[in-house]
Amino acid sequence: MATKYIRFGNMMPTEEQKARPYLIDKDPFQIAGNLYYVGNLWCASHLIDTGEGLLLLDVPAASGYPGLLINIQKLGFNICDLKWIVCSHAHTDHYGCIQALVARTGAKTYMGRVDTEDMMANPERTKRLDAGLGPYNEPFVPDVQLEDGDVLTFGNVTMKCVLTPGHTIGVMSHFWEMDVDGETLRVGIYGGSGYGSLSTEGLKKFGQPLSMQRVFVESIEKVWDEKVDIMLGNHPFHSDEYQKNERRKKGCAGNPFIDPTEWHRYLTELRTGFEDFLQFTPEQGAAMFAETHLMEYYEGVFED
Ligand SMILES: [Zn+2]
Repeated sequence: MATKYIRFGNMMPTEEQKARPYLIDKDPFQIAGNLYYVGNLWCASHLIDTGEGLLLLDVPAASGYPGLLINIQKLGFNICDLKWIVCSHAHTDHYGCIQALVARTGAKTYMGRVDTEDMMANPERTKRLDAGLGPYNEPFVPDVQLEDGDVLTFGNVTMKCVLTPGHTIGVMSHFWEMDVDGETLRVGIYGGSGYGSLSTEGLKKFGQPLSMQRVFVESIEKVWDEKVDIMLGNHPFHSDEYQKNERRKKGCAGNPFIDPTEWHRYLTELRTGFEDFLQFTPEQGAAMFAETHLMEYYEGVFED
């Protein structure tokens, strides 16, 4: 069972990786054009050089802060040029080091209004979700609270924000066009893919409405027709980012990140996996988590 659902199972770092977070750090890489991966094996963080400052899409949990800074430096960028941070949803592994970054760079922050209000209204739940994730994973109030359909401009980037609830009640997906060697390509990040918390028991445990199960599928349908040439996730294991980078390092033809078929393939995998998951008995659901491990997913990927 583990292999089929692995990217949606328990992809948390091990206790040792939580205690020594640098163990999940890896070198950053360029995806295409002005777009780079600066996150770690667990949490995605995407950097865009907008021509008028740096933009980060999601940031790791606070334990990944030093690794994030080193990755940005390794690419030759200066963290002091960070101007904007767009956070997909109110989970620690996407906003954990925002407060630390804002304190040092003054970057302006963005997150959906629905998730912001939900996070503020449920501090106890946030505390429970943060438990065990290390120090200073502070919730934050974004400077700008995004609405469904908002269009944001950051330098040469015009980004559309789409509310795609399910994983949280206010998770947002983001789409923008970029120029790659004279060609215009469209990038899409599907906001919240994890469905592990959407079992009937899980929703009860975290005080979420059962309707989230229906909403999760409706969100997939909502963005189905988006044109996406480069699909990203807010975890690297959603779109196999490290695997693609390793393929490119080995000299594969073309850019493996550019794949206009991946969006539909991914959304289909997400939907069918979720439909299976809803049919699981609580024991099967528990087994899915017990049998998935972050490092198992990366087995054989890296040569070093
Ligand atoms: Zn999440």
